[in-house]
Amino acid sequence: MKDRLQQVARVEELRAELAAAEAELEAIRTAPSPALAHLAITLHRKQCHLSHDDRCAWDYERENGEAKWDAYTHKRYLEKAERLALIAPPGVVEQLLEVI
Ligand SMILES: [Zn+2]
Repeated sequence: MKDRLQQVARVEELRAELAAAEAELEAIRTAPSPALAHLAITLHRKQCHLSHDDRCAWDYERENGEAKWDAYTHKRYLEKAERLALIAPPGVVEQLLEVI
C-alpha cells in the first residue's frame, strides 16, 4: 500500500513538473521577437503617462525576471508594435518615435 501511495505521489509530482515545463514552452513560443519587444518597450516609455505606482501594471507584469507579454499592458503595447511593424521595420519606427 505504501509503494502505491509513493507511486501516486511521484506521478502527481511529475504532472506538476510537466505542467510547469509546458507553461515555460508556451511562454517561449509566444514571446515576441527581440525587435518587436524593444519597440513595444519604447512605445510604452514614450506613450504611457500613467502612474506606475497604482495605475499602470507594466512594472508588475514580470515573471522570473522576464516580461510577461501575455499580460494585459504588455500585450496592448506589443499589439501596437505589431501594427506599426506592418508599416515600417521596428528599428525605423523606433527612430521615428525618438524624433517626435
Ligand atoms: Zn505604463
